[in-house]
Amino acid sequence: MAEAPSQYGSFEASELFCARCRQSRPVRRYLLLVLPTGNKYDYRCAVCATSVGSKMDSDSKDFQALLSGQASPARR
Ligand SMILES: [Zn+2]
Repeated sequence: MAEAPSQYGSFEASELFCARCRQSRPVRRYLLLVLPTGNKYDYRCAVCATSVGSKMDSDSKDFQALLSGQASPARR
């Protein structure tokens, strides 16, 4: 299940401080919104599911795919 931690440049959080657990927890990423400017992701504590942060990327491919109706966004 471990992913290669090779990409240091991009902010890809694997652990964030959870206010509810009061310690660093592994996080899960959820796709919140697909926008023309990019996708918005929500990070949630893997233990208690509290939102611990969010991130916006600048990848508009998913939006273009939605517009053209050729692909459906990944469901996870
Ligand atoms: Zn937590």
